[in-house]
Amino acid sequence: MQNTPRDKLHALLQSLDNAARRSGRPAPRLLAVSKRHPVTAVAEMASAWRQERPGEVPAFGENYVQEARAKAEALAAAGGPPVEWHLVGHLQSNKAALAADLFDWVQSVDSVRLAAALGRHRDAGRSPMNVLLQVNIDAEPGKHGCAPADVPALAAAVAAQPALALRGLMAIPAPLPEPERRREAFARMRALFDSLRTQHAGVDTLSMGMSDDAELAIAEGATMVRVGTALFGPRN
Ligand SMILES: *Cc1c(COP(=O)(O)O)cnc(C)c1O
Repeated sequence: MQNTPRDKLHALLQSLDNAARRSGRPAPRLLAVSKRHPVTAVAEMASAWRQERPGEVPAFGENYVQEARAKAEALAAAGGPPVEWHLVGHLQSNKAALAADLFDWVQSVDSVRLAAALGRHRDAGRSPMNVLLQVNIDAEPGKHGCAPADVPALAAAVAAQPALALRGLMAIPAPLPEPERRREAFARMRALFDSLRTQHAGVDTLSMGMSDDAELAIAEGATMVRVGTALFGPRN
């Protein structure tokens, strides 16, 4: 039986750990993607997380700046211990100031212009904003993310911003019907990541894999997986 948030979290963490062990890799970090779930669900999951993994800071992913802000303010008003907020959805430059204030991580940086806007708006007195470059790894038309060939120049633009910390790469491979077929895209991401690491100290995060393909992503070297449905159930 897996009913409570803690049961779901426990089962998920166990399956991630098992997948890592099977492929001889360290266990990935979990990002709980809470978009379109109410703040009550986030609060319950944060509390389950602290019981399940004392000492870890629960990390939540959102797609929209406004939705994240409402949740962050509600949680802060409730006065619990801190959580980490990650933006995983597309960010428009005109929301960069809000995002620079709110998020600990932005995983969807895909242009020099956006990197510059985030760097300009991040308060220099705070810890740097952690940044992942989103890569359109399957070259899908109309999808956000930079081309693999643009990663070195974009990485250099982020690294040049003192208020930003370049941490790695994020991708959402094409939703091929069989998750197994996404594995090859994950492998290409891993190669890009390995090459980026030789260029930039501090790069340590490869964010890939969601509810239905997290284990495949781990087998190909994901260091962070982003899971929504498997933790929170279907979205409203
Ligand atoms: C919604 C979303 C997820 C989580 O997807 P699930 O299939 O619900 O696990 C992960 N990453 C991004 C960028 C998303 O938008």
